[in-house]
Amino acid sequence: ALSCAELKALVRTVPDFPAPGIQFRDITTLIADGPGLAATIAHLAGRVEASGADMVAGMEARGFIFGAAVAARLGIGFLPVRKPGKLPVETMGVDYALEYGADRLEIDPGAVRDGARIALVDDLIATGGTACASAALLRKAGAVVDHAFFVIDLPDLGGAQRLRAEDIGVDALMD
Ligand code: 5GP
Repeated sequence: ALSCAELKALVRTVPDFPAPGIQFRDITTLIADGPGLAATIAHLAGRVEASGADMVAGMEARGFIFGAAVAARLGIGFLPVRKPGKLPVETMGVDYALEYGADRLEIDPGAVRDGARIALVDDLIATGGTACASAALLRKAGAVVDHAFFVIDLPDLGGAQRLRAEDIGVDALMD
């Protein structure tokens, strides 16, 4: 399998997206590469398995790509953490602050078995706001959330520290 250093070389950096001055780390090029996608899932799945998780939650939308593939590889369930208004059932939701404005995430609480050990999976952690809100929501629904896994960590933005302050271990394939 490709090493994490080799995977890092498959991530594309797009300047000035979504706003001027932002360097967007784009995983489109990583997942378009067959060996790159396979190795990314293999590396993440090994770490999720070692965490003892019995379910994976992925954040819309790129967390679905990685999280569902990891869950299928391990033979455990997948829970989508969705943008508001998408689920056809009565949801449980959390509002959280963004740098500019606010956003909301929702889950189907019926998908969370009480005491389920749910690992978070997303493509990237920046400030940690999305992952912290997701963890709070899953905990409110009765899950144990103590590990989060990312393809990419942007360490300067402090997200990993923020998650660790909530007793969530953080692991990423690359910085
Ligand atoms: P945070 O909530 O940690 O500040 O931001 C992480 C969320 O925003 C993740 O769901 C991630 O998909 C998205 N995100 C923020 N910046 C980037 C980026 O540079 N590249 C990618 N692929 N996603 C990003």
